[in-house]
Amino acid sequence: MSDRIRAALHEARRVVVKVGSRSLASPGRFAALAGQLDRMRAAGRSVVLVSSGAIALGRERLGLDARPKDMPRLQAAAAAGQAALVRAWEEAFEPHGVPVAQVLLTHADLTDRDRYLNARHALDALLDLGAVPVINENDTVAVDEIRFGDNDQLAAMVATLTGADLLVLLTDVEGVLDDAGVRVPLVRDVAEVEPFLRAPTDDVGLGGMASKVEAARRATLRGVPVAIADARAAEGLTALLAGEDVGTLFLPQGAKLPSRKHWIAYTLRPRGDVLVDAGAARALARHASLLPAGIVGVRGDFQPGDAIRVVGPEGEMARGLARYGVLDVARLAGAKRHEIEARLGRAGSGVVVHRDDLVVVRRGEGGSEPVSG
Ligand code: GLU
Repeated sequence: MSDRIRAALHEARRVVVKVGSRSLASPGRFAALAGQLDRMRAAGRSVVLVSSGAIALGRERLGLDARPKDMPRLQAAAAAGQAALVRAWEEAFEPHGVPVAQVLLTHADLTDRDRYLNARHALDALLDLGAVPVINENDTVAVDEIRFGDNDQLAAMVATLTGADLLVLLTDVEGVLDDAGVRVPLVRDVAEVEPFLRAPTDDVGLGGMASKVEAARRATLRGVPVAIADARAAEGLTALLAGEDVGTLFLPQGAKLPSRKHWIAYTLRPRGDVLVDAGAARALARHASLLPAGIVGVRGDFQPGDAIRVVGPEGEMARGLARYGVLDVARLAGAKRHEIEARLGRAGSGVVVHRDDLVVVRRGEGGSEPVSG
């Protein structure tokens, strides 16, 4: 079974490869990776690179001996280093005649539907033109990666954004290691490897294995297989795509969610919670819209169009886009259909989250992961 799954990686046409600061710190790494990525392209695949490493390079550029402690200086190092980072990729791809294109993104860019689509169109055009997009977080305006090592999560979003059929997270270990230090070759459910995760021990890169596994969880839920593989291996990517037993491969989970629903469930940051009773939770699990009658409470601060969590008696069970802001939802809580107009003080459908904007993420007892709908 696992051989067959690995052999299928050979068919991957669009691949997102993420590499972290720590992996790029070794001499010759840029050239070695560019060579492998170029061979992937020569085999007819499109390659999108998500690369950290700006702060590490910016530190040298600005003559800082240690990693700065304060955020503005970290951002300064990232800004100075970003130019050096792209230049390093450019030089590495030059012998292969491959143009690279810098793309700086933030989480917020991808939560805005228009900007998300703009980014998708630009990336499609770059790939059609034969360039390798080199994506990093725009650290001047967003600091998630500096704080949390979030380029792993950005890479998972980029995999969805670009419709990739494989996400590879490169790191300086063989893959996920179990308690005995032995590589886990295949993961069907991330819960299998969660007990093996430990925090990173140095200050060069961030995120560590836990962040990679979380990114793997997100991308596999979108139906994208994810490999955590060794950046040190001379032909690691080539071996992985040839179906060899290297790295840790996470199998895609369940049915693919349509892209918009994935965006609602995993890209947007919820601005509040709408609490519902058991009857409403059951109706939502059957893909009904969220109506006022089953609402028992509301928290947070959200406007119409913002993402919210729907919390039932057993915890969070759905995410969606609210059609009303928090004050109106509070006014509507528990209202029967004929009471809606009086509660709002104006006419309205009373639909708080329409079923088309709703993604059920947990179907009550025993269920744990998103279900498409
Ligand atoms: N995006 C930053 C970089 O490329 C952040 C990584 C870090 O905090 O070290 O360097």
